[in-house]
Amino acid sequence: MKEFTQDQIRVLSTLVDPDRFSVGQSNRELHLHDISFHLGTLPAGIIWPITTDEVSRILTWTYKQGIPVTPWGAGTSTEGNPVPTRGGLVMDFTRMNKILEIRPQDLQADVQPGVLRKELNRRAGKYGLFFPVDPGADASIGGMIANNASGVKTIKYGATKDYAMRMSVVLPQGKVIHTGCRAGKSSSGYDLTRLFVGSEGTLGVVTEATLRLTGIPSHHLAIIITFDNLESAARAVSLMIGSGLEPAALELLTPGLIHLMNEEKGLGLKKVPSLFCEFHGISKTVLLETSDLAKELTETCGSTSFQFGIEEKEREELWRARHEAWETIHRAHQGKETLIVDAAVPISRYPEMVIFSQQLVEERNADGYVFGHAGDGNLHVVMVGNPNDGSEWSILEDINDHIVRHAVELGGTCTGEHGVGIGKRKFMDLEHGESYDLMKDIKKLIDPKGLMNPDKIFF
Ligand SMILES: Cc1cc2nc3c(=O)[nH]c(=O)nc-3n(C[C@H](O)[C@H](O)[C@H](O)COP(=O)(O)OP(=O)(O)OC[C@H]3O[C@@H](n4cnc5c(N)ncnc54)[C@H](O)[C@@H]3O)c2cc1C
Repeated sequence: MKEFTQDQIRVLSTLVDPDRFSVGQSNRELHLHDISFHLGTLPAGIIWPITTDEVSRILTWTYKQGIPVTPWGAGTSTEGNPVPTRGGLVMDFTRMNKILEIRPQDLQADVQPGVLRKELNRRAGKYGLFFPVDPGADASIGGMIANNASGVKTIKYGATKDYAMRMSVVLPQGKVIHTGCRAGKSSSGYDLTRLFVGSEGTLGVVTEATLRLTGIPSHHLAIIITFDNLESAARAVSLMIGSGLEPAALELLTPGLIHLMNEEKGLGLKKVPSLFCEFHGISKTVLLETSDLAKELTETCGSTSFQFGIEEKEREELWRARHEAWETIHRAHQGKETLIVDAAVPISRYPEMVIFSQQLVEERNADGYVFGHAGDGNLHVVMVGNPNDGSEWSILEDINDHIVRHAVELGGTCTGEHGVGIGKRKFMDLEHGESYDLMKDIKKLIDPKGLMNPDKIFF
């Protein structure tokens, strides 16, 4: 659907306040792409609901009209997840952004989907609490739930699925349901909350969520460990995890990326394979003991330096630099687009996966930077090129294909955290086989007309 008729515009304008529906060209263009190269189809209009009731009335009407609807959080996805592919209506949640209640005694918060995670943390911080899922970008809670986002701290704290306890969801036909509960555990029937987590807006729209929060750790310890080769660094990762050290973050960085970070931020880091680690604990003594053990273990893998006792300001700068890796790469290659590989494997296969990917990038002479949330076996390769240059871009696509297929062969997944969107659909059959058919059946059952975020997860 390219344009709404005058009648449709009239009805949509009555479903929300006049300033919360637009068919203006610039608003439509703003919702044409996320941060990736995946280009969508211009939506016919944008609507900004602010209550569950409004969402329900909008979906009841769009369903009857056969209008495709694509939910939009903060638009920071990397696989075209919130990008409309059949025009229609984009439902933008940026104005449905109230923190409804924080219950410190229960370690819980009730939020609307447009709440940004940094704002939630600012507010929860007043109670000594935080929402620890950290994808780097200041994503919305609705988008994080829909993508089952995770990030640098997932190794200790888990992914979004571990924090979504209860949700209000509006189904494609406009019916409102409530999943889960506020108790710490439940064995009560199918886990519908988890069905909607990671469904990328293809099954319905999340309009409210109760999130688990956790206490802000009293002591932090940041460590940088360097190695003279990539294999030793990757081996040290599985050794540290296997020893029960429980880092709060364990990131692998390769010399190419460190070079860019040094150039841009003047960090003065050694340009060698490195692990950025963070530990959280109840006292300095515990953390110092942890650090001694980490040093001992990584020395057996041939570490060449071990820097700890990094002060808070420096620690924050390091993490900011790591979080901004994608932006740094993007800025260093002006005018180019990025293709981001996001595969994950069992931790024992991580060294093999890292070496495989680095060699592939070098052999194919591509501009690519290997790094990742090593502690979770999650590997990223950010490659840069021009999607309009067929021969250059096809090399990047081919590298992505090889890495993902290898990860799946090793018992891993085509996406550790970014979701399927448009880009990863081609690997779903390979990874899931018959389970992919069941996913399609579930989609048909809940959304028989295929109107909710069409062409995502499924072809
Ligand atoms: C620099 C950078 C680093 C990143 N690093 C990470 C990382 O480490 N880990 C990680 O997991 N991700 C990472 N991402 C990707 C991205 O930030 C996450 O996937 C995030 O969860 C997307 O949230 P969003 O609010 O931007 O959602 P959007 O991109 O707007 O939407 C994401 C999906 O959610 C759906 N959706 C949005 N709101 C709702 C709703 N209310 N109900 C139902 N469906 C909805 C959309 O249709 C879409 O399918 C990174 C992105 C950037 C730019």
